[in-house]
Amino acid sequence: MSRFDADFEEALGRAAAANRRRVLRPIEPLDRGRVRLDGRELIDFSSNDYLGLSRHPALIERSREWASRWGAGAGASRLVRGTFEAHADVEAKLAALKGAQASLLFASGWQANASVLPALFAAGEPPALVFADRLVHASLHHGCQAAGVRQIRFRHNDLDHLERLLTEREGEPGRRFILTESVFSMDGDQVDLERLTAIAERWDAFLYLDEAHATGVMGPRGMGLSAAVPGRVDLAMGTFSKAMGSFGAYVAGSRALIDYLINACSGFVFTTAPPPAVLGAIDAALDLVPGMDAERAHLRRLSGRLRAGLAEAGIDTLASATQIVPAVVGEEAGALEAARRLEAGGLLAVAIRPPTVPKGSSRLRIALSAAHAEADVEQLIAAARAAWPAR
Ligand SMILES: *Cc1c(COP(=O)(O)O)cnc(C)c1O
Repeated sequence: MSRFDADFEEALGRAAAANRRRVLRPIEPLDRGRVRLDGRELIDFSSNDYLGLSRHPALIERSREWASRWGAGAGASRLVRGTFEAHADVEAKLAALKGAQASLLFASGWQANASVLPALFAAGEPPALVFADRLVHASLHHGCQAAGVRQIRFRHNDLDHLERLLTEREGEPGRRFILTESVFSMDGDQVDLERLTAIAERWDAFLYLDEAHATGVMGPRGMGLSAAVPGRVDLAMGTFSKAMGSFGAYVAGSRALIDYLINACSGFVFTTAPPPAVLGAIDAALDLVPGMDAERAHLRRLSGRLRAGLAEAGIDTLASATQIVPAVVGEEAGALEAARRLEAGGLLAVAIRPPTVPKGSSRLRIALSAAHAEADVEQLIAAARAAWPAR
């Protein structure tokens, strides 16, 4: 109890009244893309562990090994205490795989986006003119807000609209930045990176690409879309917490950019270095992922089959082209009901509602994993047919 609880209770009450109060549900992760929830085993379509690496013995083993060798914690920030060889080695390995000059580790993708953007906007000639896709992640908004920068938003993946907005601002002073993602977390669609890099070059704009849902899954050797256009994305960030199976994040770019961030990025300077156990898991994933083309092909087959099956059932999957497949219901209550019915049938898929997605586009966000079998997807298609509200 605290003297301030009444304030918290009141806010929670407002959320509950709007049907938006959220609670944590205890789950236990299992193999083969399953979880245990309330004592029942469910096929899990809610995780971003797209390659099933979180349970891979090589990640677990190297994590153990590096913790035994170097300890449970890194002890301080890297500028204060010095940097472990393991941090530098992992960064060099990642940079080589991304086709970038250098890379820098962060505690999380959220922390990277929230703290790298203000540092970037502070370099060079102000003001920063920030052109952002309307659907970018909350952490990118947070970074812009922390910098006191107002975004100029373009319609989702509409590069004609981006060009129009750039043209309207032609002649205004300041450096241009373009913020977007390679794969969008709630829609599962992809940016046209070839065209986007050409636009950024033509307008001399700094291109910032969030590869959270692409790292491990898309691009040459699974190293993200930016790996296909080396040197043309000014900054690619990504996480090790999704397809890479563990935790932490990275930023990749030029040597000068990385050296600048080491000096100027608050979320790097004032935070403790990632611990050895996490570094070990990242290092093992970086060894495995480039060779996982068969798993990536399996994942593509599963998502193609799911989209086709849902389309046959008359369920809209938007522009999904990846392992993330939105199954649109429309109204919030319908999406919640569909999720409940699937769960009763042994399938876990989360209902996503406004404000996370636009009004009227409430959906189940289905996240596939290479750990799933074809039979799992067939079961999901059959269950969705039966569970869907009348259309
Ligand atoms: C998950 C996510 C992040 C945050 O990454 P974490 O490592 O989980 O903090 C950033 N951007 C996007 C697009 C994401 O989906």
